[in-house]
Amino acid sequence: MECATAQLLLVNYSAVAMEYFGAADDLANLVGSKDEFEVAQRYAQQLHAKCREALSALEKHRLEHGCNRAT
Ligand SMILES: [Zn+2]
Repeated sequence: MECATAQLLLVNYSAVAMEYFGAADDLANLVGSKDEFEVAQRYAQQLHAKCREALSALEKHRLEHGCNRAT
């Protein structure tokens, strides 16, 4: 079992990841102007960075707390 903090970080990561995949999907289906595309692209990039941050926060916690169980 993961500890409560790890579970929280995992839930947070999943939420951000879902948001990112949604934005990436929208981006792929976007048929708007170049400006619209750039705005959507920037948004997706921001979410991607947030996604990586959330994942590294989880990995960092697991390392420091030692609550990492191989999945
Ligand atoms: Zn932990």
